[in-house]
Amino acid sequence: MRDIVGNHLFSGPEPDPAGDAGHENAPPRVGFFTDTSVCIGCKACEVACKEWNALPEDGLSLTGMSYDNTVGLGASTWRHVAFIEQPVPAGRTELPLLAPDSGKPAAPDSGKQEAGQDDGAGVRWLMSSDVCKHCTHAACLDVCPTGSLFRTEFGTVVVQEDICNGCGYCVPACPYGVIEQRPTDGRAFKCTMCYDRLGAGQEPACAKACPTESIQFGPLDELRERAALRVEQLHDAGVTEARLYGHEPDNGVGGDGAFFLLMDEPEVYGLPPDPVVTTRDLAAMWRHAGIAALSLVTGAALSFALPALTRRSGRT
Ligand code: SF4
Ligand code: SF4
Ligand code: SF4
Repeated sequence: MRDIVGNHLFSGPEPDPAGDAGHENAPPRVGFFTDTSVCIGCKACEVACKEWNALPEDGLSLTGMSYDNTVGLGASTWRHVAFIEQPVPAGRTELPLLAPDSGKPAAPDSGKQEAGQDDGAGVRWLMSSDVCKHCTHAACLDVCPTGSLFRTEFGTVVVQEDICNGCGYCVPACPYGVIEQRPTDGRAFKCTMCYDRLGAGQEPACAKACPTESIQFGPLDELRERAALRVEQLHDAGVTEARLYGHEPDNGVGGDGAFFLLMDEPEVYGLPPDPVVTTRDLAAMWRHAGIAALSLVTGAALSFALPALTRRSGRT
């Protein structure tokens, strides 16, 4: 569907989400490019986010599923560093491997068959710092009845905790499962891309804290160019499985404001392979509901009018 200024309202490429949300003279849209190939899993980003936003702790319980103790994004976890352990077939040398017995980064050829090992396989760890995608078409925002979720002048999507009424509509609307209600009071929370810091000319706390520049913050157009160069560089180095996720402006959500360089299929990281904004068909649904309601009213009116007309024509 197209709105009055000619841009797609619910789906498709959207060059100026901030402008279409009513922000005049908006600054360039900003976002995150998370290059997971250089993430070391230190969780400085998670900690910085908690500290800056004064988020409550998550229980610090051991899940028994590797070093990942938060498991996913949630109301109190706005950054989540996934640890994915994968067996690597013997002879794979193109990625840094982690020797299963030492726990230390292995030499590039350590994945090769070694004497005394069954198959010579090693283990590699994929680490990725996940976050709200700040979608171009954000279904969470579309369904929010209170205006708690809004589009900022930077093109990001923010939820205001003092306006959220706890209805929870945004939770199933998000195609990535990002936003969550806090069990204690029902209000919804997620990453704000540090709206307060952006307003003061600062970069988000998580990007500032990342020691390897896995999390890169900046104007979205620049990040997309940088990401394309990085993929090319990795492919030239033989790392052919490197791929971008969420960067295309014509994908199912009109492009993510936070996109990723992944080292495997998105499903491996728990990301949907082909996300679609859940409100894409909203306009068509309202149109069909309107036609159905009109048909119902017309049918009811005719059921009263026709017998009356028949009686009148019988009398004449
Ligand atoms: S990822 Fe989910 S919570 Fe974040 S902007 Fe998109 S729809 Fe909203
Ligand atoms: S941008 Fe700010 S709120 Fe979002 S994950 Fe990073 S530190 Fe947390
Ligand atoms: S701070 Fe950077 S390197 Fe450390 S876990 Fe987060 S993204 Fe990875």
